[in-house]
Amino acid sequence: MKYSRKKMIFISIPIALMIATYILIFNVSKLPNPWSMILQYISYFFFLIGMFLGSRFNKSKVFFLSLILGLSQIILSYEIGFTHDTGFKSPELLHILSFILPINIFLFSILRERGILTFWGKIRFGFILLQITLIWWLIQPENSPAQSFMYYKLINWRHDQIIPIPQMSILSFFCTFLLLNIRMSLTPSLMNSSLIGVVLTVFNGFIWKDQFLALQISFAMAGLILVISVVETSYFMAYSDELTGIPARRALNESMLKLGGKYVIAMMDIDFFKKFNDQYGHNTGDEVLKMIASNLLKVKGGGKAFRYGGEEFTILFPNKTQREVIPYLEELRENISNERYIYRKKRKIDGKEKILSKGLSVTISVGVAEKSDRYRSSEEVLEAADRALYRAKKKGRNCLSK
Ligand code: GH3
Ligand code: MG
Ligand code: MG
Repeated sequence: MKYSRKKMIFISIPIALMIATYILIFNVSKLPNPWSMILQYISYFFFLIGMFLGSRFNKSKVFFLSLILGLSQIILSYEIGFTHDTGFKSPELLHILSFILPINIFLFSILRERGILTFWGKIRFGFILLQITLIWWLIQPENSPAQSFMYYKLINWRHDQIIPIPQMSILSFFCTFLLLNIRMSLTPSLMNSSLIGVVLTVFNGFIWKDQFLALQISFAMAGLILVISVVETSYFMAYSDELTGIPARRALNESMLKLGGKYVIAMMDIDFFKKFNDQYGHNTGDEVLKMIASNLLKVKGGGKAFRYGGEEFTILFPNKTQREVIPYLEELRENISNERYIYRKKRKIDGKEKILSKGLSVTISVGVAEKSDRYRSSEEVLEAADRALYRAKKKGRNCLSK
């Protein structure tokens, strides 16, 4: 439930920007003069910010995609006379770009993070340079036969009125869109949904290319989507725990400052986790931490879960009393103790390798405290919850103490 809400947020940012693109494209002629000037050139500003943030925050795909989009726009504006009244002097160039741009978006989206000024980064620069050379070669009049692959008709459909780019380009956009969607469903993230937004926005630009400033606006929005995705991703990385994906200590500290009126804080610690790690290995321990974190996200009563550190977790219940939340915490503790983690290990039995599997489980102890006359600040409530946790451990573990 909470996870799909997060996915909705991932998807809604690029969608909102795409709607903004449409509104702008169809209303740009009504805007006063300085605005159309700004819209014509603002994409370069976004691409530069994208390149800067991409290099600062180690998101080389944002750097390279901003660079590629920026170069594409320079090529389009410079070579074609990319203005409303002159139209497209060189449609071949536009057609070639509409074919290779989605392929580039796809390739740079899936490439692993390997830096910008590294060996791998230089290969990527080389690849971009190679394509520019290839485009230049292709548009020479004597090489026009080599362009024929661009105009290969896959189906007998007069699509030009609706989508004014060659069928091969439509196929290229469609495949990129499909593959990025598969990637998004396998690993949902704001970056992955933003890349889908970039493909769609650029595609829109090509569809409406004959509208005044439509390509410039679409490219600008694609740049803005990239900038927002890198800012949001960095924010997300700073506030969420890398292993479990749930909010981390920094997010807890900030959420604690916002607490007021009545609230409850629960501290949780896995029982005998050191022994568990020793017996089954640190990686299995990590998997169990993830499993516990996903259980904590399901806690009822409006509880917000955080990884406090190591194998300790915290849940904040704003506007609740201790009496109200204890049943939810007991339910959570029980659910965790009933959950099984399937542990597989290769063993040699009679000379043959066999995979043995076993259901492992862990328990947690819980300490809980609420805001009262005795514990006035959130730090004091948290310390009280920590002392209660210590009592739960002493009581025999897998239990709750107040
Ligand atoms: P107790 O019931 O008293 O809490 O016993 P315990 O063994 O859980 O307590 P202790 O605090 O001594 O040990 C915590 C262990 O948690 C030590 C460490 O190996 C493990 N741990 C902490 N963080 C991680 C992590 O990120 N991954 C894994 N696999 N283990 C972790
Ligand atoms: Mg501990
Ligand atoms: Mg422990």
